Amino acid sequence: SMASPALLMRVVASAYSVAEKAATIVRNVMAAGDLGIVEKTGANDLQTKADRLVQMSICASLARKFPKVTIIGEEELSTDEVTEELIEDGHCEEILKKTCPAQYTGIKEEELVIWVDPLDGTKEYTEGLLDHVTVLIGIAYGGKAIAGVINQPYYNYEAGADAVLGRTIWGVLGIGAFGFQLTEAPAGKHIIVTTRSHSSTLVNDCISALNPDSVIRVGGAGNKIIQLIEGKASAYVFASPGCKKWDTCAPEAILHAVGGKITDIHGNSFQYNKEVKHMNSAGVLATLRNYDYYASRIPNTVKQSLVP
Ligand code: AMP
Ligand code: MG
Ligand code: MG
Repeated sequence: SMASPALLMRVVASAYSVAEKAATIVRNVMAAGDLGIVEKTGANDLQTKADRLVQMSICASLARKFPKVTIIGEEELSTDEVTEELIEDGHCEEILKKTCPAQYTGIKEEELVIWVDPLDGTKEYTEGLLDHVTVLIGIAYGGKAIAGVINQPYYNYEAGADAVLGRTIWGVLGIGAFGFQLTEAPAGKHIIVTTRSHSSTLVNDCISALNPDSVIRVGGAGNKIIQLIEGKASAYVFASPGCKKWDTCAPEAILHAVGGKITDIHGNSFQYNKEVKHMNSAGVLATLRNYDYYASRIPNTVKQSLVP
């Protein structure tokens, strides 16, 4: 008989199913109509019932299967008992069939850190911009984002009743990324994707300095990485603190798995070990192609305003 699949592949396969369960919860909370909105640091930093239930579902489901893995989720929750209906026990067979890259076959549970954003794009979720929302499960080893799952619960929601609602994108460094069609952005055009609800003078000054042909303002870090890998935008530029490790871990793994690059605005790579500071204080710069073009045009004045 075949040897049991490597731990990393079992974690990704489970995270896939856990993210699909999460998407169902996100849709059910919206359909029920009571979002239970709580302000965290202010009116642009919200938490809903969906953020809370999904965090419980993801963290409890993964902790039950992989008790020694470190799991860090965005939301601070009361220590309520997790109800059994929130637990997802399944996994994706297709992922288990893939060969684990040799450098990851020996990974032990204690060596993995999972960064969970139960609902990325909460502000947009509360405003009905539903396809901006993603569920992010990022997997780190040795401080690096090596695998990730991005579920988009409302993918296709404007495509009509016949279209399949929602999708799950997953990726592992050395294997690739799946669940979407990798597409190049229009050649020779500089299309910047950035925040919709967390703009500032610095954010806008930085974008202006890049002389973009157009600017797409949408919610969510996960959603913006999807814009890059599907060729809608050529660079994700966010010259501001605010984005956290759970926002970038899964997107980074998927972007890097298809040959892209994400750093802070200075060009420093992000670290994802469990002791790391949560805030990405020096912003975000990400591209599928031509990273150096954008990195070389970030103004020094912008860099000086953002301390890592
Ligand atoms: P955005 O592009 O504005 O949707 O931000 C991407 C991610 O970073 C989301 O999870 C936001 O909640 C988070 N984020 C960015 N800026 C801020 C901020 N000023 N305060 C709180 N969260 C932020
Ligand atoms: Mg987020
Ligand atoms: Mg969130």
